[in-house]
Formats: sequence, structure tokens, C-alpha cells
Amino acid sequence: MANVNENFLNLKNDYLFSTITEKRNEFEKNNPDKKVISLGIGDVSLPLAPVVIEAMHKAVEEMSRKETFRGYGIVQGYDFLIDRILDVEYKKRGVTLDNDEVFIAAGTKGDLAGIAELLSEENIVALMDPVYPAYRDANIMLGRNNIVYLKATEENNFTPEIPKEHVDIIYLCSPNNPTGTVLTRKQLEEWVKYAKENKAIIFYDSVYEIFIEDEEIPHSIYEIEGAKDVAVEFRSYSKLAGFTGVRCSFAVVPKELKAYTKSGKEVDLNSLFRRRQSTKFGAASYITQRAAEAVYTEDGQKQIRENIKYYKENAKYIKEELEKVGFIVYGGKNSPYIWLKTPNGMKSWDFFDKLLNEAAVVGTPGVGFGDCGEGFFRLTAFSSKEDTKEAVDRIIKLFK
Ligand code: PLP
Repeated sequence: MANVNENFLNLKNDYLFSTITEKRNEFEKNNPDKKVISLGIGDVSLPLAPVVIEAMHKAVEEMSRKETFRGYGIVQGYDFLIDRILDVEYKKRGVTLDNDEVFIAAGTKGDLAGIAELLSEENIVALMDPVYPAYRDANIMLGRNNIVYLKATEENNFTPEIPKEHVDIIYLCSPNNPTGTVLTRKQLEEWVKYAKENKAIIFYDSVYEIFIEDEEIPHSIYEIEGAKDVAVEFRSYSKLAGFTGVRCSFAVVPKELKAYTKSGKEVDLNSLFRRRQSTKFGAASYITQRAAEAVYTEDGQKQIRENIKYYKENAKYIKEELEKVGFIVYGGKNSPYIWLKTPNGMKSWDFFDKLLNEAAVVGTPGVGFGDCGEGFFRLTAFSSKEDTKEAVDRIIKLFK
């Protein structure tokens, strides 16, 4: 008899996005003349930058010739890309890393799940509430049910205090999905201090790093002294360069980072992750890595930043226009996410229904990201300028 991995049975249904889709489909069926605009999903809408397309074409051509054809790649990633990451993402910010501390992969979602496997299922995990649901689900799949939720509320500006109790694994996401808030240098210093004192590990998800505009906000956790001893950092080309369909990411696992056996012996996570990847991961494709490399050329940087500017203008428009009519709005500055407080204490799903049924606009109910998201609503800046403007205008008309 094949027994099922019962950890999977502890997962909650993916209720949030399936319910949104059901409600939208139902509305569209009943209102075929109305154009529904979605500011709901975190997927990008602008096409890839021309330098990226050019690099991919060139890599495909290379694959067509015997002399330049590439087969299985290097599991950790090609040095041509890792060198550029070290230079542009880190050296520029005073962070020195070795090539073998960076692992190229096919998206942060997979990296988050992969790294989580290296640590014991008995660990206590700290997650924010509200939270990007994949952190929680990846841990539940591993049988790690000892989860402490740290409340991210208006009162603490959506950045929870350091826990009073002991935890072993901490997920931090800055800029944050869904709240759009960022962690300051001081807050990160406190987390690093806590992690050191508790021999805990921080999983630092900064896939939205490119959206940071405030000078004083750190772009990498390694800008904080001592962070290499306690933190893994995750970055992705998904939002940075529109690679949601191409798939490329990297994780930094510093050689200083240690976890412990039950008897207290130190184990080096960098080697452990390399071992894990060489067994379970088949390397990101050569074509994809050449595409990511192109992001770091002068033209590449210019072109991807133009796309980010476009999304940031959307975020600014949503935030400012909604504020003008009295909404309380968070995020939207160092982030593509706008986290708005629903008016008159409306429940997140009631606000969703009102927007869909009366304005044909789709967003994401905050409560879907955790209980503390009740009474909030997430809008994203990733749609077209025209749709964003139209959606905001429709919302304003409803509440003016
Ligand atoms: N982390 C956060 C906070 C995200 O919002 C997302 C995607 O939306 C991811 C990770 C996954 O990124 P990727 O496309 O690289 O798998």
C-alpha cells in the first residue's frame, strides 16, 4: 500500500486565488458587456527588454552549432552570470561574496522550498501575518507545523517586533508582499542580532529589491554587519526583469552560515545546499542565464529600469489618487504593492465583492494572506498604465 505523505493533507486549500477566479468568472458570465480589470495578480505585463531578447537569440544560435552547443549546465550556475551578480548587486553596495556562495536557479519559489529542506522539521518557524503563502505551505509540506505568527498591523507599521520567544527560522520579506512595506537598517540589525543570539537562520526574500527608492533602505541583508553568519538571501529576475515566464533566480548561501546537529555540531549550509542542488536541481538553462547576464549590461540596466519606472508610476498613481479621496494606503513607494485599508471597516471579501460587482475591478482580499490582513486589500502596479488608471477611476467613482 502506498501511503501518502500526510504533511500535504495539512495544507489549506488554495482558497484565495481559486475563489477570486471563480467570482470573476461568474461576474463575467453575467456581465458579458463589462470589461473586468485586474489589479490582483503579482505577474508582470511588460515584455522582456530588447537586450534580453537579443541575448536569448544569440544563445539559441550558439546551441545550433557543434562548436558552441551546451549540454548539461553547471548546477550552481555559470560564472559569467555569477560574476555580474557579485559586481552589480553586491560589490557596489560594499558586500563581498565568493562565486561559490551564489546559486543560480529557476525562480525563488523553488529556492525557498529547496533551502527549507536543509533544516530539521522540528524547528520553530516565524512568519509574518499577513504573509506570502508559499513560505507557510513549503514548511507544512516538510512536516514543520511549529509556526509562530508575528502580527504585522497598522500599529507596528506592518513590521512586527522581534519575538519574545525563541524561534529557529525567520522569514523576512522586504519590500514586502503583500503589505508593500520595507525593513529599515535598524530593524534588520535587530533581526540579525536576534538570529545570532538564538542561533536562528533568516530567510531574507528580497525579490522586489529593484523597487527600493529610499536611500537609507538596505538592498541586501548583507549590508548589515554579521548577516552572513545568519542569513540566506533570495533574489529573482521575475520582477527585476520580467522573467516570470523565463524563470531565473539566485540564492546566496554564505560559507559562514551554520546549522547544528542535535548534538550541537556545526554544519556548513553552503555545502549542504550544493549537495541538495546537485541531486534535485538540473541547473537553469544556458539560454536563460545568458538572458539574465544581459540584464547587467549598460543597456540592460537602462531598459529594465524603464520598465520598473513604468510600474512605479502605476503604484504612485494608485496610491495618490486613492489617498485624495480619503483611503488610507500603505506601500506603493518602495514596492509594486499597494495595501489599502478598506473603508468603514469593511471586511476584505465584502470590499472585493463591491469592487468586482460595482466597478468590475479585481484585487486581492488582505485576509487571504493571513488573519491580520482582514480589513485590508492588495492592489498591484503590474498592469498597463491605461488599465491601472481606468481601474482607479472606477474605484474612486464608487467611493467619492
Ligand atoms: N517571493 C515573493 C515575496 C513573491 O511575491 C514571489 C512571487 O510573486 C516569489 C518569491 C516567487 O518568485 P519567482 O517568480 O522567482 O519564483
